[in-house]
Amino acid sequence: MRVGIVGVQGAVSEHEDIVRSLGHEAIRVNKPNHLEGVKAIILPGGESTTISKLLKTTGLFGRIKKLGEDGLPIYGTCAGLILLAKKGDDQVASTGQELLGLMDMEISRNAFGRQRESFEERLDIEGVAKNFSGVFIRAPAITRVWGGCKPLARHGAFIVAAEQDNLLATAFHPELSGDSRVHEYFLSKA
Ligand code: GLN
Repeated sequence: MRVGIVGVQGAVSEHEDIVRSLGHEAIRVNKPNHLEGVKAIILPGGESTTISKLLKTTGLFGRIKKLGEDGLPIYGTCAGLILLAKKGDDQVASTGQELLGLMDMEISRNAFGRQRESFEERLDIEGVAKNFSGVFIRAPAITRVWGGCKPLARHGAFIVAAEQDNLLATAFHPELSGDSRVHEYFLSKA
């Protein structure tokens, strides 16, 4: 199966490696024609303001949004989670970054603050994986869900993984924990 990894900025190659290790074809997506024949899309972590801008200038923004609305599986990690949300926070408003707005959830960028810029936490992800090592790097969190969005994992007061039909989002980086269970779960949607 052909899987598109959005490669405009951020932690791209780690996702490609994991997708290939599961026996799939990984295509780096930098412009709209790279989406041809793709059965699932991964939006990696990085800097969500930068990724949002580059998605706009490359013409990918509208294409990916439409594919998500039409039911193509899309998985966002970290900055990718921010982009999938319908509602941002004050930081999102102040930078004027545009979100794809596909999932019924509100997020907080850099929710875990400066003291805990990066950390690792064992998580139970409902229906996906137990005792999964979640790697958080300047991570966002989901502060509220509604409609069709279902929380899958929590850390303290925050939701750190959620799904809505064809869409999956994690605040952490499973591509960095040497454990492919989240990717396997996501690709089973395609
Ligand atoms: N804090 C970053 C942002 O707001 C996301 C960090 C990450 O993707 N590792 O875009």
